[in-house]
Amino acid sequence: MAKESTKPYEVVKTDDEWRTMLTAEQYRVLRKHGTESPFKNEYNANKAAGIYQCAGCALPLFSSEHKYDSHTGWPSFWKPISETALGKQTDRNVLFQTRTEVHCARCGGHQGHAFDDGPPPTGLRYCINSAALKFVPGKTA
Ligand SMILES: [Zn+2]
Repeated sequence: MAKESTKPYEVVKTDDEWRTMLTAEQYRVLRKHGTESPFKNEYNANKAAGIYQCAGCALPLFSSEHKYDSHTGWPSFWKPISETALGKQTDRNVLFQTRTEVHCARCGGHQGHAFDDGPPPTGLRYCINSAALKFVPGKTA
């Protein structure tokens, strides 16, 4: 038996499986680290109460209670819904700055980036792609 520890995430699918189950935009963002257009995205201006799940595996990632308007054009949160929801890695693809990439802890789907210019109490700004999220209106925790 192959050891499970060789699989980095709880939810693992082949590239073809992801391509089949996701929209083209979701696939581009979640699996190819794409970035959607600012402002012209689904959840930037969404102020409804509810939970934002990972569009890849439905893990709850963010709550509307922690969403704020960062004026960047992307849905922004000052913290994730739980400490274990997101994984982080340093993004070294950017020439002049180091960014913290954030992804779903369960399926590895790319969500966006975390910056340290957010509001109190955390001072963090999670800049997230709408395409990586599925909003479920209703309860917020
Ligand atoms: Zn996920």
